[in-house]
Amino acid sequence: MFYHRKETIIPVNVGAPDARFGTFLLEQFGGATGELTAALQYWVQSFHITDASIRDMLQDIALEEFSHLEVVGKLIEQHTSKLDQEDVYAAPLFRVRGVGPHFVDSQGSAWCAAYINEGGNVVRDLRANIASEAGARQTYEALIHASSDEGTKKVLTHLLTREITHAQMFMAALDKMGKLDDPYFGTIKPDDTVDLVFNLSKGDDHRGPWNKAPQFRFENDPKPSGGLPPSPVNPDDEHMPTAAE
Ligand code: MN
Ligand code: MN
Repeated sequence: MFYHRKETIIPVNVGAPDARFGTFLLEQFGGATGELTAALQYWVQSFHITDASIRDMLQDIALEEFSHLEVVGKLIEQHTSKLDQEDVYAAPLFRVRGVGPHFVDSQGSAWCAAYINEGGNVVRDLRANIASEAGARQTYEALIHASSDEGTKKVLTHLLTREITHAQMFMAALDKMGKLDDPYFGTIKPDDTVDLVFNLSKGDDHRGPWNKAPQFRFENDPKPSGGLPPSPVNPDDEHMPTAAE
């Protein structure tokens, strides 16, 4: 069951409407890193997560993301409330489709369920969520840099802040399971190449803890060990006569 409160989670007051900036804001409404993606991703994940405390966290964050979606939508609505003739060129998406948010990104591409990263395992999902929060935070930073309206920047700075909080929550949940710095999960054991690192680019090589002992074995000059694969068998392919024929 859902309730909706008509008050927004934070005040939304745009000082100077700018339809072109409204177009940029669509990235966080109907774009890949946007609030619809986050809300639906955490919500759908919560259906398959057996740990009650992590399921509850995901549902709380999902609903906060819906509150963010509402706030971004209000920002877009206010930025597009005074469409003028110039907006035909500066913000054609709104000039054609009308005032307010639409579920497209800043380039006009329709929102797509393939943006959602989820599937069947709590560790997998929480890691995906950390990446999602990083994407959202980065888009908000770009939007803040592109904005000259103080009211807008205040809202966007709050939204950026909350994505950091969410990333910290997902990290704390992984830490509770001992999975924050342990890449193993699931039931299948990896093979004996698990600590092997290949140097497959030649030139100005650099080393770091990701390819050094004691955690990793570094293969500086890796050789293929698979032999030549058998030729394909394809009766429909064109037949080239051999020398004997
Ligand atoms: Mn958000
Ligand atoms: Mn978030």
